[in-house]
Amino acid sequence: MGALTSLVASHLGYSVLWCGPEEHGRTDGADARNYALAPLTVDLLKRLGVWTALEPHTCTVTRMEVFSEDARIDLNATDAGAEFLSEMVLHTDLLAALESAVQFRPQIQRMKARPESMTAHPQHVTLHVDGRSFTTQLVIGADGARSWVRAQSGILWGQRDYGQQGVVATLELEHPHGGVASQWFDHGDILALLPLRDPHRVSMVWSTSREHPTSEHALQEFVAQIQERSHGRFGAIILQGSAFAAPLRMTLTDAQSALRTLLVGDAGHTVHPLAGYGLNLGVQDLISLEEILKDAQPDPGASGIVRAYDRSRRFRVKRVQWGLDLLQRTVTASHPSFSRLRRWGMQWVGDIGPLRQFLIRQAISPQ
Ligand SMILES: Cc1cc2nc3c(=O)[nH]c(=O)nc-3n(C[C@H](O)[C@H](O)[C@H](O)COP(=O)(O)OP(=O)(O)OC[C@H]3O[C@@H](n4cnc5c(N)ncnc54)[C@H](O)[C@@H]3O)c2cc1C
Repeated sequence: MGALTSLVASHLGYSVLWCGPEEHGRTDGADARNYALAPLTVDLLKRLGVWTALEPHTCTVTRMEVFSEDARIDLNATDAGAEFLSEMVLHTDLLAALESAVQFRPQIQRMKARPESMTAHPQHVTLHVDGRSFTTQLVIGADGARSWVRAQSGILWGQRDYGQQGVVATLELEHPHGGVASQWFDHGDILALLPLRDPHRVSMVWSTSREHPTSEHALQEFVAQIQERSHGRFGAIILQGSAFAAPLRMTLTDAQSALRTLLVGDAGHTVHPLAGYGLNLGVQDLISLEEILKDAQPDPGASGIVRAYDRSRRFRVKRVQWGLDLLQRTVTASHPSFSRLRRWGMQWVGDIGPLRQFLIRQAISPQ
């Protein structure tokens, strides 16, 4: 989000100082993560001139299969008149494409350091980075779920802990994935296998309450379970590299702006990964911001601007967060009546075309 924000602001004609540590070699498992980029995100990447470099590394997802107990539904992009549901991309490829685009923008100054202090005044903000002092009209915090900018600005926030871990890994399949994304709701766990550019590789996102899900024993048992649940459709499955686990939490903020300060991406909100919305929701922050900043010269940090941004995001973000929260509760609840509800729900979606179309449109653009 930091790279994307810098690119958007520079295309609007602003001079940008982008500070943050070297991204490569992050220890929180982000390198193992892959993103399902929604059409809106792809459009932004095209406008920023990043897509041409990225496209050779992406996998277009046009169909999704969802399984729960003995029920199954298929969601096709064409059912809703869309060309595709998402484009899958590796975190490392996305980052490389964005960082190289940043290098071509002389308006962006990149400092690979964390700011040491930040003081917001009514007319400007003072930042200290790497022993140097900078004065700016606006600070945009794109520094993730544990945002330092959010803490400095005094924006109140809280979290709902899902009591689950998100395990991410890459799996190699004996049989090709065919560009289809698969998702299973199973005894409180949610498993997604998302196709990658290599026709024999998928990105796995497993939301589980299981203890030590990345232990060798748990993963072997888990792979055997996928083989059984997929009726051997993928053939033999081999875990590639390591699996990483991160606690799953919804982060809620009281506001996405404060004096001459804005939050974008996970700094302003996190969601359960069951629908692959996280980064896309951050991109929607940027698209709103871009609209507002277009008319904001000469002062992008003026109080009217930061308040307009907060108003544009407040309800939309909460709606997506609580919508996904409700979905997570419904698909993971173990009571038999929920199990029946899930089965009926999936049958309705399968049978009722307009309902299916509505769901596909929501999956493509969550607003
Ligand atoms: C298991 C899992 C699977 C997911 N799958 C998907 C998916 O398929 N599709 C999707 O859209 N989203 C997905 N997400 C969500 C997605 O990963 C996040 O929404 C996205 O990474 C948020 O990007 P960000 O830049 O806001 O935050 P981050 O990726 O956390 O980046 C924060 C950045 O800020 C930097 N930073 C930290 N502190 C400072 C500081 N003090 N000063 C300067 N810089 C700092 C960090 O170094 C880092 O580079 C998933 C999440 C999880 C947990």
